[in-house]
Amino acid sequence: MTAHRLDLPFTDLIAQTDREVSDLIQAETTRQKTSITLIPSENYSSVAVQLALASVFTNKYSEGYPYLRSKDNPEEIDLTKNGRYYQGQPITNELERLAIRRTLELFTPNPDDYHANVQAHSGSPANLAVLSGLLEIGDTLMGLSLDYGGHLTHGHDVNMTGKMYNVVKYHLNDNYEIDYNEIETKALEHRPKAIICGATAYPRQIDFERLGQIAKQSGAYLIADISHIAGLCTAGVHQHPFPHADVVTSTTHKILRGPRAAVIICKKELGKQIDKALFPGLQGGPHMNNIAGLAIAFKEAMSPEYKEYARQIVKNARALADQLKLSGFKLMGDGTDNHLILMDVVNSSPELSVKHGAYLATKLEEAGIVTNKNSIPGDDKPWYPSGIRMGTPAVTTLGMKEKEMVQIASWIVEATKHAEDSSRLAEIKNQVANFMKDYQHPNYFIH
Ligand SMILES: *Cc1c(COP(=O)(O)O)cnc(C)c1O
Repeated sequence: MTAHRLDLPFTDLIAQTDREVSDLIQAETTRQKTSITLIPSENYSSVAVQLALASVFTNKYSEGYPYLRSKDNPEEIDLTKNGRYYQGQPITNELERLAIRRTLELFTPNPDDYHANVQAHSGSPANLAVLSGLLEIGDTLMGLSLDYGGHLTHGHDVNMTGKMYNVVKYHLNDNYEIDYNEIETKALEHRPKAIICGATAYPRQIDFERLGQIAKQSGAYLIADISHIAGLCTAGVHQHPFPHADVVTSTTHKILRGPRAAVIICKKELGKQIDKALFPGLQGGPHMNNIAGLAIAFKEAMSPEYKEYARQIVKNARALADQLKLSGFKLMGDGTDNHLILMDVVNSSPELSVKHGAYLATKLEEAGIVTNKNSIPGDDKPWYPSGIRMGTPAVTTLGMKEKEMVQIASWIVEATKHAEDSSRLAEIKNQVANFMKDYQHPNYFIH
């Protein structure tokens, strides 16, 4: 390896070893700084989180857990004992115990009643670990159908979870709300082992209390996957899944602004099964640099500033939704109660309607506005769906408020009306890049 000069910007340090990758990092930085990110599952992590990801913790293997379970009472863990398979763990043990403590403090009403696992590499393996820890292959699982906003890992046919379990799907009602009556009826009929709730494209609040009652009544575990809304729940802007859920899973890179990872929090009595299902059941060594990053992000998420941030995300989403609706876009559920907006761009007003969401998402990107195409109920072609999904977590991190949402909405309307006019789209892209100069994230790793 070459000896490095350390008095250079980050990309130049990388360039001493690899110019090609360094240039790509620089280019992606420019892209993020000059376009408007409206993808609701994306955000900007802080420089502290990014530095932790780049730290020496990436070098260490730590298979196992930083504790041992008591032989007499598997609910009890002894945090003074080392449950790792390799030597060299005094520091990783301390780090993971700190991350667990912060997870419990951030997510639970009473840390003593719950267990947290911080090792899942991402949201999908976290869900798979929970399901394989609690269910046998062939057991019945109830989850929200993908075309109604559910996640692949909630029992979709093409996902492992759809192949491993007998999946009973539930849907949304005519008001675009979770159909709690349907869930109740089906839960009592099919007696699922678990009901999983949570969504990737649902603009309303979720009634965890009602779902908890249904789960109890039908003898099912309630698993709440709050990947999209975690920060809203922990900041008190959305109903909290605890104490209603038995297990909560969440990614840490979306609204929580952490590294790409996930956490699992469960009632203490389920901790042993879930730990075992994740390791050795599904994963090998944890990514300790990610665990360092999520510990930092959770400290940030417990601050008063974060609570204010969560409130502003919702205000901004409402402002953006109001303006888009006023302009003639059709919004699923007619608006939003959270951070997310789902538009039916095929059935919007005549001057705004386009052939499909994939087309509009491409055109908006040409105008510097980054969204994603999304299925809406009734769509049968996921590659050419009727919807566009947008959210406000990232723009709110930059400090934008309602006024800026009105501006962004007007660019979206203009780009949609002139989607065929590439010079008009290029003009908007310029305006967007200029506008973004005022909102550069202060925490970028690279300059
Ligand atoms: C994002 C998301 C996941 C999956 O996360 P990955 O990190 O992409 O695997 C799971 N469930 C829900 C509800 C999500 O929004």
